[in-house]
Amino acid sequence: MGEQPQPKLTEVAGDVHVIENANPSIGELIANGGNATVYVTDEGVVLFDTKSARLHDFLIEQLGTLTDRPVALVVLTHNHADHGGGLQQLQADGATTIVSAADRENMLRQPGSGSAQIAYSGSLLLTMGGKEIHLREIHGHTRGDTIAWLPEARVLVAGDLVTTADSIPVIVNYEDGGSWVALESALGELAEYDFDYLVPGHGPVITKSEFLAFRQKIAGMLERVRTLAREDASRETVAEALLAEFNWGGGLAAGNIPGMMQELK
Ligand SMILES: [Zn+2]
Repeated sequence: MGEQPQPKLTEVAGDVHVIENANPSIGELIANGGNATVYVTDEGVVLFDTKSARLHDFLIEQLGTLTDRPVALVVLTHNHADHGGGLQQLQADGATTIVSAADRENMLRQPGSGSAQIAYSGSLLLTMGGKEIHLREIHGHTRGDTIAWLPEARVLVAGDLVTTADSIPVIVNYEDGGSWVALESALGELAEYDFDYLVPGHGPVITKSEFLAFRQKIAGMLERVRTLAREDASRETVAEALLAEFNWGGGLAAGNIPGMMQELK
């Protein structure tokens, strides 16, 4: 792997920032991980996802440009290494770490990924420096993705239930309990929040109307698969249709198609 450009720190709204890769490419995803969302409060930084373990010092340096306070809380949107690779180091630094109970189970099955200190089921309301953080567990990309609603900032952190660049397609992880049927209804639940900005797991931050267009695209894609699967279309036919009509199904997404067809039949 060649040298990848450094991620950048971008302001979102109301004390929320995101540390995102310079480009939404698979090479940068492998090197740096997904988006990390930063919420600055008077009681310390709340971090949603950590990027890769090797970026720990870079991450701390970037946070130092925003606040003198340390990382108080780390919330993982799910158990994958591109989102939680820095967890153990941040925990050793003194941060308290949180993941859903369902994705904690996924972490425990993966040697070396460590495990968060706090696991919750359903929902969890945190208050840091007077700011509310509403965590909610939603089935979709994995068996227990966490979304975070930050009402003061009107920002929703969505993890890998949403990705916003075609170069990093949204997928479900069947091994970790993901499901396309569940992901589709998860997007319906996300739509109920009155947010100005949504931070996806990968790719640029989007507005509410951009999110609604994304949801529409996924719904159209799944409807197409439903129709084709019921006609007993071959995997190749489905793959070709999705690529031509939705620019989805190449690269990482190709392996998702058989499971998707089975689920939607
Ligand atoms: Zn990811």
